[in-house]
Amino acid sequence: MFHAVNCRYPECGKLALFVPGKTFDFCLFHTPEAERETVVSAILSYIMTTETIIGVNAGGLKFSGMDLSGKRFYGCSFQHCRWENVKAEEIRSRMSMFDFTSFTDCTFERSNIRFVSFGCGIFKRVLFTGSDLVYNNFCGVQGSQSSFNDCDLYNSRFIRAGLFHTTFINSNILNVDFTGLNQNGVVFKQTNTKGAHGLVEEKRR
Ligand SMILES: [Zn+2]
Repeated sequence: MFHAVNCRYPECGKLALFVPGKTFDFCLFHTPEAERETVVSAILSYIMTTETIIGVNAGGLKFSGMDLSGKRFYGCSFQHCRWENVKAEEIRSRMSMFDFTSFTDCTFERSNIRFVSFGCGIFKRVLFTGSDLVYNNFCGVQGSQSSFNDCDLYNSRFIRAGLFHTTFINSNILNVDFTGLNQNGVVFKQTNTKGAHGLVEEKRR
């Protein structure tokens, strides 16, 4: 499903950037300085003008002040990206990778996101409120002032995550794995905490 062409830089090992219809030779890091702006704007404009986005590799790019609401992302890679002030409400995503990506002031409200990895991501003031988030990987994420309220998180994993002032109100966390969670000010109100794994009551200081 992923478009797998390796970066041509010797021994890089990363995948080359990709959007359908355009072949790039390198990952973002190894894209020659003189071409970088053109390559980045080609990828961003493809994403902005396409409703169903399949197989794109936008690893390392910065997304700022964009409205991606309603878009569909299948088999895409957005690893090591920065998303800032991005509105992505009611999106749909399957089998995509957002590992090591930081999200600041973003909203994914009422989205449908399954089999997606956010491993080791950073969430600052990110709202997933009212979303279907079944079978996702949030292992190792650092989240603060974020909302998973009214979400279905069935079978997702937050192993060794750090969550601070983040809320799970009226959500389904059946089979969600919170083993090793580092938490401070996390609210699980009207949420089926007994069905989750590895969740220990927060230590009050
Ligand atoms: Zn490379």
